[in-house]
Amino acid sequence: MKIVLLGPPGSGKGTQAAVLAKDLGYAHISTGEILREEIRKNSPLGLQAQEFVKSGKLVPDGVVISIVKERTKKEDCKNGFILDGFPRTIPQAEALEKEGITIDKAVSLEVTEEECVRRLGDRKSCPQCGAVYNPVTRPPKNEGICDQCSSALIQREDDKAQTIRERFRVYSQKTAPLLDFYKKSKRLFSLDGHLNPEKVLTNLKNLV
Ligand code: AMP
Repeated sequence: MKIVLLGPPGSGKGTQAAVLAKDLGYAHISTGEILREEIRKNSPLGLQAQEFVKSGKLVPDGVVISIVKERTKKEDCKNGFILDGFPRTIPQAEALEKEGITIDKAVSLEVTEEECVRRLGDRKSCPQCGAVYNPVTRPPKNEGICDQCSSALIQREDDKAQTIRERFRVYSQKTAPLLDFYKKSKRLFSLDGHLNPEKVLTNLKNLV
């Protein structure tokens, strides 16, 4: 099955996608994480993307579409995959269909902006491996240190207050119209993302 997780920044897409993908034996495709990895490597793609990512703006459609086109051809996608953070615009969603990649279900995690802002403000990330932590729902074993690679945790540049506001502006302008896009083709499902992460996961599993 091919699943898209939709929701504003901080709605829990990344956390849920990672666990669900592991449980189902699907690939987890996070365009944000792919871009951050390229930025960490200082690759040409990373250099091209870094200003957009840092400022909370969208990387141009053509760039992310080709990333996803290539990524979905990999062996680990053959059972299915979960897209997290893609599509983020109508042209990106249309590009998938044009490639013959038909999304079975789009699941929207419904969380208020106020709650998302609170979660993003608390969030700490590993600059080395990309792992994400939250002081309440996913604290690291040792404060400020990544469980996976022992690097010092940081607040992502784009999780800072003024950039969060820009990401929300972009979300409502460019990404929210996707809810209608998938609703029209009867592929949209909504979940309450305010529940605790275990409950959201259970509801997600019942849906897909
Ligand atoms: P995320 O980790 O999904 O919050 O993404 C972090 C940042 O990466 C976004 O704010 C954008 O700058 C960029 N990005 C990730 N996915 C996309 C996408 N599908 N289209 C354009 N930009 C993206």
